[in-house]
Amino acid sequence: MKKKGLAAALFISFLFAVFVSFFVLGKGIDNLRSGIIGGLVIIYLVFILFMILYTGNVYKWRKIFFTSYAVAFVIDFVWWTMGDRGHMWLLDSEILYSQAPMCHIVVPMLILPLIFTKEVIFPAAFSSVSFMILLTVVFTIIFGRSFCSWGCFFGGQDELFSSIPSSKRWSINRLHPFIKYFPFAMLAFIVLHSFITMSPTYCFWFCPFKTTSEFIEINSFTRVIQTFIFVSLWAILVILLPILSKKRIQCSFFCPMGAFLSCSSKINLFGISIDKNKCNNCKRCITICPNFAITEESLSKGKVLITCTKCGACLNVCTKNAITLGIRGVKHIYETIEDTSAKSGFWKMFGRDLWDPAVVFIFGIFTIAAIMSSENFINSISRLLKYFIGV
Ligand code: SF4
Ligand code: SF4
Repeated sequence: MKKKGLAAALFISFLFAVFVSFFVLGKGIDNLRSGIIGGLVIIYLVFILFMILYTGNVYKWRKIFFTSYAVAFVIDFVWWTMGDRGHMWLLDSEILYSQAPMCHIVVPMLILPLIFTKEVIFPAAFSSVSFMILLTVVFTIIFGRSFCSWGCFFGGQDELFSSIPSSKRWSINRLHPFIKYFPFAMLAFIVLHSFITMSPTYCFWFCPFKTTSEFIEINSFTRVIQTFIFVSLWAILVILLPILSKKRIQCSFFCPMGAFLSCSSKINLFGISIDKNKCNNCKRCITICPNFAITEESLSKGKVLITCTKCGACLNVCTKNAITLGIRGVKHIYETIEDTSAKSGFWKMFGRDLWDPAVVFIFGIFTIAAIMSSENFINSISRLLKYFIGV
């Protein structure tokens, strides 16, 4: 994305600050301490958006936000389970009384049972299940699979470990066709198996993120095996393989929600496109894409695959400005105005910066991500302050 002028970056950041303050401060700031922490979190979020716009480096600043969100979520959630509740187990009694915390990954498993039997197979309150389904549908229609790189509190773990520098890089840009289809085979298996057994298969058998949130109570040999699987998958798919490959392996191949959201990628409002006339075929975008969404074949057609999460990496790595994030079917203003003409006049530049579809996308998705993450940021800072310095 092209960097925006100072005036436009400040103006958009100001609008964002107003929106986010309304949600954050209106959500139970009841004393000076929580007001100060809430204020600091708002400043952090506004700073991230400003830097995305002012530097044009979507990937770097989104990554800082996204990975810090994942860390804040783990601190907040684990502290709640271990500290406040006294254990990290989801008890059988809580499952029985539908008190399990709701997570978006369960949504694909809910659909068939809900349609055919009118039953909710996840042990959470019906209100949170319906809210999660509604949120997923609305979010997906507008933003496609972008949730995986902007709003998923688990995906940030994958991205964090894939960003750790390592001397050896396992190059896996070319995938065997079987591997390419594996996430969708995995999704089909999880959805059908959940329907047949009327229980959320992924949650009870495969979710690596149980390791950093909440295990199922270990009270039988089967539960020991399940816990072993959760921890092993986390160590291999979220830590080891992302460090070695610099790719988001869990998100790309194993997450049923990721594959599910990929299916919406053709119908959502925003899309990434590649201008073949500008492209010099350097293939840097193929190498950097953490989700295997650009292949030599897709590059030759000027397209990205449906697994794209709009993370911004290819936008920033392309030195030819061949890759753009736009609104589907709408001619991008940068395609119709020569760069030099826009340099004349403050208002012309200001208007041009605001009209960029990438700005509309970033403003919308980052506002939602900021609202979702703010509670985790506030709670984790609050808990750490109390624990380490007693304030
Ligand atoms: S980084 Fe840009 S120039 Fe290089 S192959 Fe990708 S689109 Fe083409
Ligand atoms: S195609 Fe570009 S925006 Fe999409 S996931 Fe790959 S690097 Fe990110």
